[in-house]
Amino acid sequence: MYRAWIHFLATRLPSRCEVCHAWPARPVCEPCVNRFAPPVTRCPRCAIGLPAGVGVGACGACLRQPPAFDECHAAVDYAYPWAGLVGRFKFGGEPGWAAALAARMREHEGMARALDAAQLVLPLPLAPRRLAERGFNQALQLARHLAPGKVDAHLLLRVRETAPQSALDRVERLLNVAQAFAVDPLRAHRVQGRDIALIDDVMTSGASLDAAARALRQAGAGRITALVFARTAVPSH
Ligand SMILES: [Zn+2]
Ligand SMILES: [Zn+2]
Repeated sequence: MYRAWIHFLATRLPSRCEVCHAWPARPVCEPCVNRFAPPVTRCPRCAIGLPAGVGVGACGACLRQPPAFDECHAAVDYAYPWAGLVGRFKFGGEPGWAAALAARMREHEGMARALDAAQLVLPLPLAPRRLAERGFNQALQLARHLAPGKVDAHLLLRVRETAPQSALDRVERLLNVAQAFAVDPLRAHRVQGRDIALIDDVMTSGASLDAAARALRQAGAGRITALVFARTAVPSH
């Protein structure tokens, strides 16, 4: 009984840092944020981490072949402890993490600026089968916390089932998602000339965001900014 009570307290009390277990705290306490989310110099086009002192120019991959979006920001690197928290959010049935992850995104200066400038905030749509498995779209949950009044979850559509990106190499990833997204033809006028923020939780190769931005570009979108919670260190293209 006593053990059960301790377990109940440990799992239900919201005021303990989930990383270092300090009390009292936000879901992740300030010292842990400072320790695990230091400012990182990133490529302005794809948000890949760049060695300090490189300057603010685009990375080599983006110089050769820029992505379809104009700008990209990531709040943190996809590493400890953030990768584990994203896993709990997405796969552990804990959609409540959306608020905390979105709060970290909002604290990023470039991201806050892009969210304020955007006229439309669009979550990257999940394939229907994934949505049915998970029960929620993590990108939509984040978008709703980031800019509740600007979110439209029905403009950008996932029109083709694709193999899970994690099983594929870089070239396969690009081909896999090339035709996966479309703008709803009946509502395409809503994106014309608009500044758009495209939201996802994790960016790995960037192939999905690139394909989605391409569909928006074809529909006449204005400036497109990709905003993700976490960025892996894998080169984007
Ligand atoms: Zn902590
Ligand atoms: Zn880049």
